[in-house]
This record gives sequence, structure tokens and C-alpha cells, in this order.
Amino acid sequence: MHKMNISGDNWLLFRAWYEDLTTKVKWEGNYSRGFKEKQGVRQGGVWSPTAYKVFINSLLKIYEENKIGSYIGSIYCGAPTVADDVTLIANDPYELQTMINIQMDHANKFRYSISEQKSCVLKIGDKSEHSWYINDQKLNTPINATHLGIKRDINSKFGVKEVVPDRIQTARKTVYALMGAGLYGLNGINPKVSVHMIKCFVIPRLLYGLDIIRLTKTDIAKLSVYYIQLLKQIQHLPSRTANSAVLVLTGQLPIESEIHKKMLSLFRNIADNHGSVERSIAQRQLALKTRDSESWFIQIIKLTEMYELPSPIEVLDLVPEKHIWKKLVYNAVNDYWKNILILEARTKVSMKMLNVDNFKVGVVHNIWESSGSELLSVKRACVKAKIISGTYTLQADRAKFNGNRTSSLCPLCFKQSEDLMHFLIKCNSLEGVRRKFIMLLRNLLNDKINALLVDDLFNFEDNLLQLIVDCTKFQFLKQLWTTIERLSSSLCFGLHQKRTSLLL
Ligand SMILES: [Zn+2]
Repeated sequence: MHKMNISGDNWLLFRAWYEDLTTKVKWEGNYSRGFKEKQGVRQGGVWSPTAYKVFINSLLKIYEENKIGSYIGSIYCGAPTVADDVTLIANDPYELQTMINIQMDHANKFRYSISEQKSCVLKIGDKSEHSWYINDQKLNTPINATHLGIKRDINSKFGVKEVVPDRIQTARKTVYALMGAGLYGLNGINPKVSVHMIKCFVIPRLLYGLDIIRLTKTDIAKLSVYYIQLLKQIQHLPSRTANSAVLVLTGQLPIESEIHKKMLSLFRNIADNHGSVERSIAQRQLALKTRDSESWFIQIIKLTEMYELPSPIEVLDLVPEKHIWKKLVYNAVNDYWKNILILEARTKVSMKMLNVDNFKVGVVHNIWESSGSELLSVKRACVKAKIISGTYTLQADRAKFNGNRTSSLCPLCFKQSEDLMHFLIKCNSLEGVRRKFIMLLRNLLNDKINALLVDDLFNFEDNLLQLIVDCTKFQFLKQLWTTIERLSSSLCFGLHQKRTSLLL
């Protein structure tokens, strides 16, 4: 501890803090008698990892000073260890056994023991038969093992093929646990709230550790599919809904963008950690590796190019302040994906009424923003969400889907093809429901807006349809968006109910 500059009062504090410790076992509400604790660190203490490092460092130093274990170039990285999660890396089976022996000597000297059941050897790219021993017990050689919460396997390209499926499963469990708190289901919670909960509780678990490993295209695809499907679920949208609609309505970007942000922020932290092994490796790999390399640092080069950010070499030379880098990365990544998303949304005919011009990362669309927390108003907004995303099925859609073998004629009035315009504005059979709301809408606008503009909105069918489906297209109505949305979603819901009851 003295070598770590812990002396004087600080040392006394530590001594006092660990003096006369007793432990009791709690079992079914009852406590055992206490017994004295002479070894180990406090469970869950903030200082415990550091205290443990002080203890284990002497062992790690032995490896490094004797140059036993693996190197990347001339940089030693034979024992990447966090607290008690020790990994020993060697390129040679005998060297590994030596490392294990040193570990056992250390254990004997300090009177702790290494469990052969909790230890194993991963043989990566090595077909030879070899066995390793701890306490004369042969170690298992499984096909995968977990270090720092990341499952490494010996067969896949990047050695981490099981991580993403694991994360998705964890995320599923988290969502399931949140359902009690009303994440989704039939309890009609506003998706705005659900998105917030997903951001707080699900995404961190879904993406944990994914910034430090190499992901394949399949991994990314799996994460995207899961994330999009989750966003559909909380908005009660059918699975055929276009991805861009799902994201625009919730103000979210593809999940890949979040991983990239994490990777870029991790890189800055590495660059900032002067004297660390990671920083040395960064310098070496960036200088020596070619573009076709699978190195994580080469991926960082590609990301900085993709987002037009300062190159990794520049960042290493002059490490930007954390908040400055964070802002830079967030803006660049968000803008990049936002543009892609908007372009994609514009090409979809089925969602041409959805206004994407106001898309802001992290801000839900007006239909969710305006619908509040009341059960019925959320239910109304759900019908609207289907209409706006082009997944509300009318007779014209059925006809198109069946190659016109089915008639597109309105099943209520049999006068016209039943498309969105007919359903929302024209169909005579629904006029009774419609008239009341259109009048309310018109009165509302008459009070606040120039009469000529109001005429324009109501006399041209295209304008009226846009006003009802997504009024955010009209910037000059901005202060009325919420009120208009409440009225128009009531209108759509009224029409939907009437239509359904007439078809029964
Ligand atoms: Zn009709």
C-alpha cells in the first residue's frame, strides 16, 4: 500500500476500516453467529476493487517483469485482469502452465486457493492435445468461457458469436420485468413513456460490452431486428410496418448508431489514459495495421471517416476534452443516421403523409406527444399511428395486395374505391361522425388563423387530408399542433369505430 502512496492517516483509515470485521450469514430471515473476517475485501465496497488490485498487482508484476505471456508487437498483454477476474494469455502451452504455476505459488504464499472448477483453458486455433493442471487437477477445455461478462468462444471468426444472442435474451428479460411497471401490453401506456424506459433500462443491458468486441453483419442485423420489433410492440404497430416509420414516430435512430457512439467514446478514453497498455496498443495498431485488418482500432478509423470526425491519430496526439468529444460524436452520428432515415422515409409511398421534416433525435412524433397518459387518448393515437405509418388496412389496400382480384370498392357505400382519402374525408356512410369533428376543427382554426388560410386548408382535399393525418406538415399551425392532433385522432378513432361497427 505504501507503494501506492497510501500512507499516514489514509493508511490508518484503511486499517481501522478493516479491523475487527465480522461476517454473519442470513438464511431465511435469521442470522448466524458472527465469525471474524481476516481475509478479502468488503463485498460491494467502492474501494474494494482498488484494494484488491493493490493485493493482486504483485502477481501481475511477476508475469510482466519475467516476460511470461503474450505480446502484441512489443507490448505486454499476457494477463488482462480486472479485480478477481484473471485471464492469462500465452502462445505456448508450456508457457501457460508456467503462468498457472506462478499463480499457485502466489496463492500458497498468501494463503488463498485457486479453484480448478472455476478455472478453464480456451484453446484458440490450437488443435494439439495438451492438458493443464491446477492443484494436480486437470483443467477443463470448454468451447467457451466468460471474462468480464463477455462470452468468448473458440470457433467463431471474432470469438464472440454468442454475445449478441445473450444480450438480446437479457434485454427480453428486462422488458418482461418492466411489463409490471406498464411498459407495454394492453394497459395502453403512452409509447413516449415506454421509449424512455427502454432507453434507461433495456438499451444499456442490450449493448453492454458490445463496444469492445468485433461484431459481424449478422450480429448487427440481429440487434436491429430486435430493437425495431420492440419499438413496434410498444406502439402497437403491426410487424409489417416500415422500419423508418417506427423510428420516426419514436424519434429514434437505428441501434447501430448507439454502438458507434459507445465505440468512439471508448476510443477517446483509451487515448486519454496515458501510460496504459490500451493506449500503447492503439498507437501500435494505428501505425502498423493495414485497412483490411480486423483490428478494433482499424474499425475506429473507418468510423471516424464515415462520420467525418478527426482521425484516431489526431485524437491520440491531442486528446479532446470529454464533453467536447462527446458532443462532436453525438452530432456527427445523429446527423448521419437522421439523413439516412429521412431519405428512406420519403421513398416509402405507404407513409407519404408522415411528415419527417421535423424529425428530432430523442423527440417523439406529435401523435404520441399530444396523446397524454390517459388510456383512451392513447388508444385513439394508436389508430392514428397505423394510419400515419400506412398500415391501416382499407379495401383499396386489400385489392392491391390481392392483385385486384378483390374489389377496391368501399364496403360501406359501394360508390368509390376505399382509400385513405375516401375513408377519412369522403365516404358518405361516415359523414355523421365526421361532420362534428370537422366543424370543431374549423372553429378552432378560425379563432387563431387567417380566414383565407383556413379556407385553403378545408377546401382542398389534399390539404384537409394532410391536416387530419399529420398536421405538423403545416409549420404555421405550430402552436395548435397539440390541439389539432387531439381532435383529428378523435376523428380517426370515431371513423374507425363506426366503420368497424357497420362492417360487423
Ligand atoms: Zn364509402
